[in-house]
Amino acid sequence: MLIIFDLIKKKIVIIGGGLSGLYLGYKLKKEGFSIQILEANNRIGGRIFTKKNDHTKVELGATWLWRYNEELIKLCATLQISLFEQNTKGDALYEASNTNLPERFQLPGNQEISYRIVGGTATILEKLSNDFSEDELQRNQKVVRIDDKENSIHVLTENATFTADMVISTMPPQLLVNTVDFSSQLDLNLLEIANNTHTWMKDSIKFALVYKTPFWKEKGLSGVGFSNVGPFTEIYDHSDFENSHFGLMGFLNAGLANETKAYREEKIRAQLFKFFGEAGKKYLYYDEKVWSKEDLLHVDNTNFLNPHANNGHPVYQQDYLNGKFIIAGSETSPSYGGYMEGAIYRGNQIVKQLKNKF
Ligand SMILES: Cc1cc2nc3c(=O)[nH]c(=O)nc-3n(C[C@H](O)[C@H](O)[C@H](O)COP(=O)(O)OP(=O)(O)OC[C@H]3O[C@@H](n4cnc5c(N)ncnc54)[C@H](O)[C@@H]3O)c2cc1C
Repeated sequence: MLIIFDLIKKKIVIIGGGLSGLYLGYKLKKEGFSIQILEANNRIGGRIFTKKNDHTKVELGATWLWRYNEELIKLCATLQISLFEQNTKGDALYEASNTNLPERFQLPGNQEISYRIVGGTATILEKLSNDFSEDELQRNQKVVRIDDKENSIHVLTENATFTADMVISTMPPQLLVNTVDFSSQLDLNLLEIANNTHTWMKDSIKFALVYKTPFWKEKGLSGVGFSNVGPFTEIYDHSDFENSHFGLMGFLNAGLANETKAYREEKIRAQLFKFFGEAGKKYLYYDEKVWSKEDLLHVDNTNFLNPHANNGHPVYQQDYLNGKFIIAGSETSPSYGGYMEGAIYRGNQIVKQLKNKF
């Protein structure tokens, strides 16, 4: 029986070890497929980046999910991952202009609750990749070319070639068609749509601060703040579930991407003083991630694309290269494209499709 099963076991190479790639690998392996995930970076996670420091962990990528993210919430339950509510208790602050100090206001009571993952968003990645061997999940394997052969498909990285029955790319579509070569020309309509598919948060700059105490709570503040002035446009409480490590986290004006880290930090310190007084400047740790400088996400494209443009477009529902190539990734999801939920929704679609096919 085992020999027969091995003979029909199909080999799937998955490009990208972000949430989409790891989830597909996890599900397809469970279904009996032979899988190999190739990740270009030396870390897994892609746009999920829970970074450890000497004090705690901070999220420099995806942080929140919402009650309507049904597939993701189901996955968290399966993996025994707990969620907790984003703290918004207390007043928020709003900086309307350069000439006035930020003003306190109450957030409306009917706001959608955002949830965070106990232990950090990367807990999902750790649980999904627990059972992968070193051969199944390979870091530092940047895919540069895909060769369609008669009875197989070859994936070439900078230093190796992998042969498979099928390949699934989870690279954001715009990045895929601009950085990977194909032995046969891809469908022109697909190229046009992929080039005009927005990659969610590709231009964002996220920063995080760790503090000894949650001093803002002592002032009756939630840690939530908005600013028309910048450099930060939004800021939130980033303390952990255990309430033993305290922090703030926010987004910077994307126009600061070409400044130095030291310059951005200095400007943030000045704004923190306006928001929170002296205590705001006394953080233990500062970190940031300028996502537009990430080659494994960002493509320089002069076209302005509306957020989520072409996410989940019907071209992504087709197979390419004689049925041997599928384009996945959050941006290809017809539901919540660009978000973590989209990565899982699209993954489930593909697992169903491959189970029917083989
Ligand atoms: C700052 C920020 C905040 C966010 N906040 C939220 C949030 O709060 N809630 C939410 O739901 N979503 C959020 N998102 C979006 C969320 O992170 C993504 O939807 C999700 O992580 C996408 O996963 P993915 O695997 O589809 O794509 P990615 O995470 O982009 O993974 C693609 C992977 O492919 C790899 N790769 C690229 N090129 C190659 C190559 N040539 N060869 C091999 N591998 C390659 C990349 O390194 C990467 O690991 C945020 C994103 C960012 C950047």
